Amino acid sequence: MVDIAVTGAAGRMGREVLSAATSRDDCAVAFAVNRSSVDELISGIVIESTDNFAELLDDHDPDVVVDFTGPESAVEYSEACAETGVAFVTGTTGFDETGIAELRHASEETAVLKASNFSRGVAALRLAVQEATAALPDADIELTETHHNAKRDAPSGTAKTLLEDIESVREDLTERVHGREGEAPRSADEIGVHARRAGDVAGVHEVLLGGKNETLSLTHRAGDRSIFAEGALDAADWLAGREAGWYDFFEVIES
Ligand code: NAD
Repeated sequence: MVDIAVTGAAGRMGREVLSAATSRDDCAVAFAVNRSSVDELISGIVIESTDNFAELLDDHDPDVVVDFTGPESAVEYSEACAETGVAFVTGTTGFDETGIAELRHASEETAVLKASNFSRGVAALRLAVQEATAALPDADIELTETHHNAKRDAPSGTAKTLLEDIESVREDLTERVHGREGEAPRSADEIGVHARRAGDVAGVHEVLLGGKNETLSLTHRAGDRSIFAEGALDAADWLAGREAGWYDFFEVIES
């Protein structure tokens, strides 16, 4: 049984994590916090104020903090975890280079697992995209992602991960072109990137590889957010008790 603390508990993902955690028998919720005050119980859990986070960590001593908030707060939570030796799982996206460096710094003191996407289907998509990119070395590649209308960062963290995967195979693709307008002919060294925002879409990612007389389209559609919550809890379960370091969701899947 793993004791978890949940940050961003009243957000879309925080609610999913609490719902999934309270229906699983391999984890228990030690406490949950949210930046803005929340009067309601969520999945039967009281939502505490973020101001008391360090105190709550000391009092409850959870095994893992599961974080879906924003980049600045995720870094702050990782630092608090580093100070107390609590493992840290974050699904937050939109970190800049400094934020990533700060998370990595925290991983020198505690176990940190960051994933831009906790869906097993997206993990499979990443592998398929790498294989397809290698198999079609001359293809034009375009990436399109679609998310709900309240998503803050663009392109999505998952899109950026997929772009890194593609670029690791195709070193000739040196330019990311975000949308096109006006006179905008395509060059051979670019990857087109398109971010759509509409309604309550949980997340769709499509990688299109276009060659001569054939196209290959690889698409993942999230049915709802529960897949991300379940994946994050699988990661928390796996990370609990591990030594300080930087861990990857593929290690969870392959275990
Ligand atoms: P959201 O805006 O619905 O929720 C964020 C919540 O965090 C809000 O309740 C907000 O009040 C709270 N919050 C913000 N700063 C806080 C702080 N300092 N302390 C405590 N609470 C704080 O957003 P969301 O849709 O739940 O997404 C959250 C993050 O997770 C985003 O970065 C999103 O891109 C990412 N995400 C990742 C995955 C994945 O699988 N890795 C899946 C979905 C979303």
